[in-house]
Amino acid sequence: MMLDYQSLLLALGLSAACLMVTLFGTWVSRRTESFLLTLVAALALTISGILTYNLYGSHMGAILGAVAYSLLMGGFSVIYAASIQFRTGIKPWRVAGLLALVTIAAGAPCMLVGLNGLGLVIMNVATAILLAGTAHQYWCARTEAPVPLTGMSVLYLMSATTFALCATMLIANGEWTLARVPDNWAENLNIGVCIAGMTGIGALSLALHQWRLAAHHRREALTDPLTGLLNRRALFEQHGTRVLGVSSAIIVLDIDRFKSINDQFGHACGDLVLKAFAEDLHAVLGRDSTATRLGGEEFAVLIDNVMPGRAELIATDVLQRFASRRIVFERGIVQPTVSAGVATGTQAGSPFETVLSQADAALYEAKRAGRNRVEMAGYLHPVVDNDSENRTSA
Ligand code: GH3
Ligand code: MG
Ligand code: MG
Repeated sequence: MMLDYQSLLLALGLSAACLMVTLFGTWVSRRTESFLLTLVAALALTISGILTYNLYGSHMGAILGAVAYSLLMGGFSVIYAASIQFRTGIKPWRVAGLLALVTIAAGAPCMLVGLNGLGLVIMNVATAILLAGTAHQYWCARTEAPVPLTGMSVLYLMSATTFALCATMLIANGEWTLARVPDNWAENLNIGVCIAGMTGIGALSLALHQWRLAAHHRREALTDPLTGLLNRRALFEQHGTRVLGVSSAIIVLDIDRFKSINDQFGHACGDLVLKAFAEDLHAVLGRDSTATRLGGEEFAVLIDNVMPGRAELIATDVLQRFASRRIVFERGIVQPTVSAGVATGTQAGSPFETVLSQADAALYEAKRAGRNRVEMAGYLHPVVDNDSENRTSA
């Protein structure tokens, strides 16, 4: 048995209400995804619109029609704005307000003056455009989470198509004043697709939310919060099993006498020096480099596609940039320096960890040779200033 049109409409309202509750619950559990809250607002408007339209079906009052029209256009405008917010992070209210204003101005007057057939054509066309736009936004964002986003895009496009069909039926009918709300196969298809689409979109929105959360946690686990550089774990996860050839090099850097900066100016000032150093790394390094904070005041840079001797030049660049800084604190000025050790892979290939420890050994030599200098792995220098005391006290 087929359900009658009004029951279908109520079923649609109910499924939208279920989706609204689910999305709201998800948003409450973690309030970072504000696009979920935007969707909740959109659904609240849409549900009010559906219920009002249902009432309009039995009373056919002009004002009721205009109110239903306006609520629905408001709802679909916010749905579109939520998709922009999802993709770009732009706050949705200006876009939503503007679209609602334009679409309401286009059709609500028709509803008020009794041209309800024309008003509904405009409503269906505007809705088809807004939903197709929404599909487009999620489609453009699909690389972030291909499965849920492609799915959402398809569902929005399907819904948009059925609204376009409803408009086509009304235009073919050619009556601009209707005594009752349209009830034809396109209308039934429209509601059926919207109910199914709503369920699918609900499930996919949750999947999307989980996807984003997981990506966020993953990023957090691999990033050093103070400097924003990758951490040791990220370096080993991404490159730890590699075998490095001659065109790859590792620079290990360690800030000189950092403990005394901490002792003299305090830990917070020490942190600022670390941040300043990370900025210098960032300024000097190119796209083929991975900069990481190994821990404390020790950093490692992995460089690929590097010509012989180039890694040393890059290290020297970083050193000079950092040494030219004068960092002013309340208690005085710090002119920090850093030492670096450089090692490259070999023709036959060297395991990542081997090259890293060679760079580390070179760094040790740089410290022994007086600090604020770069050493290449494999070169031994006579000890210039013997501060083994300093190192063992560390
Ligand atoms: P050297 O020139 O031989 O490298 O001497 P150093 O003082 O830099 O070396 P040492 O390893 O003795 O000191 C490192 C200090 O870095 C000790 C530790 O308290 C400090 N440190 C480690 N992590 C942090 C951090 O996140 N912030 C700050 N402010 N200090 C840190
Ligand atoms: Mg140090
Ligand atoms: Mg150290």
